[in-house]
Amino acid sequence: MALRRASSVSVEQHTNWLGRLRQVDIHATRGVTFTLERGQWLALEAAAEPVSVGEDGARVLWHTADGWFWEDDGLDAEAVALLVWDRRRRRDGQLDRLRQIRAREEQVEGARRERIPPEVRSFVWERDRGSCVACGAEDDLQFDHLIPVARGGGNAAENLQILCGPCNRQKSDRIA
Ligand SMILES: [Zn+2]
Repeated sequence: MALRRASSVSVEQHTNWLGRLRQVDIHATRGVTFTLERGQWLALEAAAEPVSVGEDGARVLWHTADGWFWEDDGLDAEAVALLVWDRRRRRDGQLDRLRQIRAREEQVEGARRERIPPEVRSFVWERDRGSCVACGAEDDLQFDHLIPVARGGGNAAENLQILCGPCNRQKSDRIA
């Protein structure tokens, strides 16, 4: 892995007796600390591009706009910036997909709770002449969702029909 988030980095700022920043110790990992002078630290914080802070064996610690990263491929600042950007882009894409899935599930849950409005019931009843649209039976009738609620079907008249119990069960068996 070329680039890994450096999760254990902690930054310790030292000030002089006037409270002015003097130097910054970056505790990178157990026993490894990089020390920056005031000017170096301020430049690093102001930089738009990633800045390498120090090495630990084969790894280089980078400061980026998105946090601290280790890198062991001898990458330059531009390559590190690209990889950090790619990580963020992929994470954003994943979050977007999760948001869509959650919105869809909430919508299904909402439609399931929502009862068929009375005016829709009477419209469908009139339209289907109060009998099973499959076999014409006139008792044990039910409102059936053409597209099941669990698959995103709603309570609009176009998605509803009247079926008798036996025909409805037959349809359920086919869908399952
Ligand atoms: Zn029927």
